[in-house]
Amino acid sequence: MSTLLIKNADLLVTMDDERSEIPDGGMFIRDGWIEQTGRTESLPSDADQVVDLKGCIVFPGLINTHHHLYQTLYRATESGMGTDLVGWLKKLYPKWAHMTPDDVCLATEIGLAELALSGCTTVADHHYLWPNGNVARDQIEVARQTGLRFHLGRGFQSLGAGQGGFAPPSLIESGDDVLADCEEVVGRFHDPDKGAMLRVFIAPSSVRSVSPELLRQSAEMARVLDVGFHMHLGETAGEVEFVHHEFGCRPAEFAEQLGCVADNGWVAHGVHFEGQDIDVLARNSCGVCHCPSSNMVLGSGVAPVQEFLDAGVTVGLGTDGAASNDSSNMLAEARLALLLSRVIPVRPHDMMTTRQALEIATVGGAKLLQRDDIGSLKPGCVADFAAVRLDRLSLLGAREPVAGLIKCVVGHVDHTWVHGRPLVTDGVLQTIDIDDLVRRSRSH
Ligand code: ZN
Repeated sequence: MSTLLIKNADLLVTMDDERSEIPDGGMFIRDGWIEQTGRTESLPSDADQVVDLKGCIVFPGLINTHHHLYQTLYRATESGMGTDLVGWLKKLYPKWAHMTPDDVCLATEIGLAELALSGCTTVADHHYLWPNGNVARDQIEVARQTGLRFHLGRGFQSLGAGQGGFAPPSLIESGDDVLADCEEVVGRFHDPDKGAMLRVFIAPSSVRSVSPELLRQSAEMARVLDVGFHMHLGETAGEVEFVHHEFGCRPAEFAEQLGCVADNGWVAHGVHFEGQDIDVLARNSCGVCHCPSSNMVLGSGVAPVQEFLDAGVTVGLGTDGAASNDSSNMLAEARLALLLSRVIPVRPHDMMTTRQALEIATVGGAKLLQRDDIGSLKPGCVADFAAVRLDRLSLLGAREPVAGLIKCVVGHVDHTWVHGRPLVTDGVLQTIDIDDLVRRSRSH
């Protein structure tokens, strides 16, 4: 048994049920689990390890609910930028088809390092391409070494170019192979226990790149295996047209008919969802991951986030893949969610508040991943949290710490902890030698 006392934080933002924000706050932690939060004076004064975070705002670790980490080696490319999602994918798939398992591991390591430095403690990676012998174990091992909480989406595509999808044949899997490997990967790696560092979810790429039959079968498998289910949905106007043309309905309705919209799942984007689509999500208790950067980079549009929230649909936040974000920074993503909600003025209450932005990045993400042990700093949750010093240049003059955290460009955090273990200390990643990572990346 080991105990950890976090004390003297200028502000502890708990995101608990009452959304308590505690000045001069702290936490008493035992074996990685939060036992007590409150003003420092109310906490036990002794612990095996005592960390004084005076001068900092402390908040729950951010939860990234939609990434494609493999794309990190393909960011900041102009390729496909003059087109929409499909044109962009057609440019990049042939390049991604050449990736080796080492490439995927390196991309994953860079992405996770960036995420940890942005205060992210849990990431759900939608990995739907398995080029050249890449297997689930590759990324899982990297995640284990970096120390982030990891949800691996065993993704797939069964329809390639010429079949309705867009990827070359080498990236396409048969339905039988997909189902067999999903079962194998879940059985081997998924940890259903509270406090799990590793979980698996089943994640078809989209309604255009996976056959209806396989969508139905994989959704059923996720229910039987009691794991999460996730896919892209409603990302572009082109997808809406495609589904209407092929199946005579809207994407959300189509997904519902196949059992792909359920309370064990969440979809990425939902940009082109209207009232009836939002009703589908609400009545099935299915959530949405909002990816503002990617939607802007690819010109996909603006997701109706406030309408989701009004309908009781859970919203989480995601960076999306690094090829359509060019970054893996969750604080930056929360800031963009706030700003993007203000671009199209509809109703005043459509404009997100800073606390709502932080909420979707924490408790919203936890709900999408069906976890009640992360996303908040309260007794019974794991000690996943981040801290930012308020005396840094970018926050000088900030009148409110929470508003400053989201509205100012913070960049990197000073501290990130996962399960009571330090990942970032004084702005330095503890689990990865960044100089070595830079060397390996530059010579790659
Ligand atoms: Zn995506």
